[in-house]
This record gives sequence, C-alpha cells and structure tokens, in this order.
Amino acid sequence: DRLISAETVEREDLLDRTVRPKQLADYVGQAKVREQMEIFIAAALGRKEALDHTLVFGPPGLGKTTLANIVANEMGVALKSTSGPVLDKAGDLAALMTNLEPGDVLFIDEIHRLSPAVEEILYPAMEDFQLDIMIGEGPAARSIKLDLPPFTLVGATTRAGLLTSPLRDRFGIVQRLEFYDVKDLTHIVNRSAKLMGITMDESGAFEVARRSRGTPRIANRLLRRVRDFAEVKSDGRVTASVADAALNMLAVDEQGFDQMDRRLLLAMIEKFAGGPVGVESLAAAISEERDTIVDVLEPYLIQQGYLMRTPRGRVVTQLAYEVFGLQEPRRD
Ligand code: ADP
Repeated sequence: DRLISAETVEREDLLDRTVRPKQLADYVGQAKVREQMEIFIAAALGRKEALDHTLVFGPPGLGKTTLANIVANEMGVALKSTSGPVLDKAGDLAALMTNLEPGDVLFIDEIHRLSPAVEEILYPAMEDFQLDIMIGEGPAARSIKLDLPPFTLVGATTRAGLLTSPLRDRFGIVQRLEFYDVKDLTHIVNRSAKLMGITMDESGAFEVARRSRGTPRIANRLLRRVRDFAEVKSDGRVTASVADAALNMLAVDEQGFDQMDRRLLLAMIEKFAGGPVGVESLAAAISEERDTIVDVLEPYLIQQGYLMRTPRGRVVTQLAYEVFGLQEPRRD
C-alpha cells in the first residue's frame, strides 16, 4: 500500500470529515480558484439562481471533492454525490437527477469515466434541465421528457483533456487545482492538528508539510501517522525532530517522494539513460498503469522540476540525478 498515494481509503474518508473545510474561507491556498468562486457564488446567490455547472480538475487529493462540498454549503443547498464508473445505466443518473431539489449540487467524481449512454442524457439535463430518456424496449419503447429543477453539476476529473468536448463545453466554470506550496500545506497541517487536538509546534507542521508531495490529503494522512509516533515514542508533542523520525520510519524521504516516485525516476535513469522515453515503456518498466503515471506521479515530478515532457518522450532533469547523488551522463 502506498502511504503517500493520494487515493482515498474509505475509513480515512470518515476521519477526514473532521478536517475537511466547509467554507470557502477555510479553503487554504488556490487563491485564484477561491477568488473566482467567491464572486460566482455571491452573484448566483444575489440572482437567486443555481450556480453554473462547474468542472474542477487536478491530481487526486488536491481538494476537488472538498470544493464541491463547499459550493453546496455556501449556496445553502444539498449535495448529492456519485461517480462516473458507478453510473452504469442512463436510468441510474436519471434516478439521481429526478431527486434533486432546486439549486442542489450534483457532484460527479471521475466524470471522464461516464459511459457514452449516460453522458448522452447529461447534455440536455445540463443545458435545458430536461431529462430525455427511453423507457421500455423494442417496439414498445418510447422516449419521455421530464423537467428537472435547475441544479449545479460539479464534475471532477484528474485531467480536463480526458473529457469529450461536448461535455467540457457545457461547463460554465472551469477550475484547475494546483499542487500546494509548503506555506499553504503548513497552514493546512496546523489547522488539522488543532481540529484533531494534536499539540504541534510550527517546525513540526513545516516538516510534515514539506514532505507531503504538495497534496493536502497526504499531509493529513502523514499527520495522523506522525501523531501515533509522537504518542508512543515521545510525549505526544509533534516537533520537527519527532516528525522527521516518524517520516523516516515511514520511508517518506526529504523530497516527499514515495517509493513509486523513486522507482519512476530511477528506472528512467538506469534503464533509459535519463530518457527520452515513452510513457508506455515506462509503465511496463515499473509495472504501473499508464494513467497512474500520467495523472498521479508525473504532475508532481514535473512541477518540482525532476521530469520534463518533450515531444520525444519523458526526460529526467539534472535535479533528479542530484537527488540520487548520481552524475548526469553527457548528452552530445
Ligand atoms: P480530491 O477530491 O481532489 O481527491 P479532496 O477534496 O478529497 O481531494 O481532498 C482531500 C482532503 O484534503 C480533504 O478531505 C481535506 O481535508 C484536505 N484539503 C483539500 N483541499 C484543501 C484546502 N484547500 N484546504 C484545506 N484542506 C484541504
């Protein structure tokens, strides 16, 4: 199991409820997103309308679900939540949509994984709040139209490019989430520690933050493990040295890399002479799925300057060699 993976685990989701921000004001970082959403929400409230359909994209754990919940909360409406792979048949989505109250938020996670049949009924629903479905089969089949209350669809996806363009075009608001810097993550760790009743000093928070791969979900997860360590091995207070010892024990290194990051970079260096290498070859070399590489591993490594995407493939940077104490071969 990846300690540092940004995927949610169900039990963790429960723990997370205590620390998940409920108001835009508590949504740390993402200044541009926050500023825009504040305006769009205030305007929609002023006009007593549902907020425009909103697409949120970015790597896992950066706050897409949190933002959807905040939108519902700030708009004073309920949130109904589902996900692309779960919606099997058009009828599943129809059932959800006919249960919406005016203004409600319908949150669809992994919206890029909707089946074409489900996506098809989403178009008129988003555009005209009309449900257009076929009932029955064969000669007895007929289509029925139903009016839906105005609602806000919030869709989340790891990459905007995965959406079909007719779907993408139906979102009036598109927000892209970025990795968090250490300052914002320190803020998040401090806030979570307070809510969880953990005694922690500023340097302890900083240590957890800088090793969290730019991701709030990982920061909160590491904080829980560091708390365990502090309670058992020390007096319960999280200081920088306690956090450091705990994270070393968990093999979370100084760069916040986990094993998969290290394997990816090392494979590129050792098996492909630093690149360029295609993502398919990389996936085979480290036995990881292509999508995981593209959606989870690469974005952080690229943002941190360890990896580059070039037209000929992926290339590691000098920084990556330095991290492993290796010499970059001369390329000429
Ligand atoms: P995603 O849906 O993008 O995978 P989530 O919204 O589930 O990510 O975020 C994971 C957790 O990280 C949340 O439960 C929350 O505790 C924390 N988190 C995310 N974004 C923020 C933020 N901007 N400020 C504070 N905490 C955040």
